[in-house]
Amino acid sequence: MHGMSDLGKVYVRTFGCQMNVYDTEKIYAFLQDRYVPAASEEEADLIILNTCSIREKAEQKVYSLLGRIKPLKETNPGILVGVGGCVAQQEGEKIMKRSPLVDLVFGTHNLDELPALLDERIHSGKKVCRVIGDSDSVPTAEAPRVPGRAGPASLLTIMKGCDNWCSYCVVPLVRGREISRPAGRILDEASDLIQRGVRELTLLGQNVNSYRDPGSGSGFVELLRKIDALPGLKRLRFVTSHPKDFSRELACAMAELPRVCEHIHLPVQAGSDTVLTAMRRGYSASRYLEKVRLLRSLIPEVEFTTDIIVGFPGETRQDFQRTLELIREVRYQNAFSFRFSPRPGTAASEMDDPVKDSEKKSWLPELQAVQNLITAEKHQDMVGRVVEILVEGFDRKRSGLLEGRTRTNYIVHFQGDPSLVGQIVTVRVTRSRSIHLEGEMPV
Ligand code: SF4
Repeated sequence: MHGMSDLGKVYVRTFGCQMNVYDTEKIYAFLQDRYVPAASEEEADLIILNTCSIREKAEQKVYSLLGRIKPLKETNPGILVGVGGCVAQQEGEKIMKRSPLVDLVFGTHNLDELPALLDERIHSGKKVCRVIGDSDSVPTAEAPRVPGRAGPASLLTIMKGCDNWCSYCVVPLVRGREISRPAGRILDEASDLIQRGVRELTLLGQNVNSYRDPGSGSGFVELLRKIDALPGLKRLRFVTSHPKDFSRELACAMAELPRVCEHIHLPVQAGSDTVLTAMRRGYSASRYLEKVRLLRSLIPEVEFTTDIIVGFPGETRQDFQRTLELIREVRYQNAFSFRFSPRPGTAASEMDDPVKDSEKKSWLPELQAVQNLITAEKHQDMVGRVVEILVEGFDRKRSGLLEGRTRTNYIVHFQGDPSLVGQIVTVRVTRSRSIHLEGEMPV
């Protein structure tokens, strides 16, 4: 156990989506008066698993990680273990029953209470579970202001929840209905982040295109324009855009606004209209491709990334071929692809699937091979080019190298002075790697 005077160490393991990456930043910030970040679970006094239930595999990973933590806690019973995020929100006390080493379970709406919950655990000696849902309180998308220092690139939540009910997705179940934050608050938080050194903002929501300011009713494009105009901001991104709601107006704004970067994450999920209909995505492959072409005509250098689900119930080899064709046509910079896994409570979990698992097994690696080749070709095309990158920090694996990103979302590692972190610099790309590029600063 640690006293107040000597700070303990906390390690937060993040599972799943962007939203969780943001929540993890908040967890560190809320705990910063008592804990400094640890490099790994092994050296932590407090281990927090920030979970995600979007994919079944992520949930299994949580329990297998708890299994790995068990010996740590056996050697040092003073270690505290907390589970937060979507799995905590859904499962609550069940987590403690299944894994008795867990001290604390907290929901997605209880992050700000974390210091108080830890006190309760330490002083009462009892395990604590605090999970409130939207039904227990007036729902609000208002996140408490996060204290602490910000890095050069920061995420900023503009809305929470989702009203789309895609047939495979648990987000509307666990994150609740769509709620937009007031534009005034978002602008205040953006200005505050810029003052604290942030150069690049990524606006965050499950479907940013359906953002509506609760006061004026104005939409996402208007918000984007206002943030783009904030002095001191260099770059602006947003994620996620639902293709059905991606408008010509937004495409034009992206082309016109100087800080909005030339990259868009546009999750297609499948290339077959039959599968898209079963997924309840609200667009056809041709409508999707029209939007891609529109963006390319307005912003020739724009890069696309996407999410793809392979092996949806009823998906045939022919359907899958359509996804491959679409990938080849769009030529994504990167695709996050997953094998379909049924999530409890979703419509897709009840769907029959006449196509055998054995037949589908090879599809995901086949798709990934196609995408990897495209990514490799794109990376190779970058070699020799001089690009502008925002230096975000250090490359985690190869110490000493700085890491930055181009406006078009290519990651570049290069040798440079640590004082460059937070600056926009020009580098020449010298080499292509599978996930990133290598570069050097011109002498
Ligand atoms: S748009 Fe669909 S996939 Fe995305 S969060 Fe909403 S329901 Fe889930």
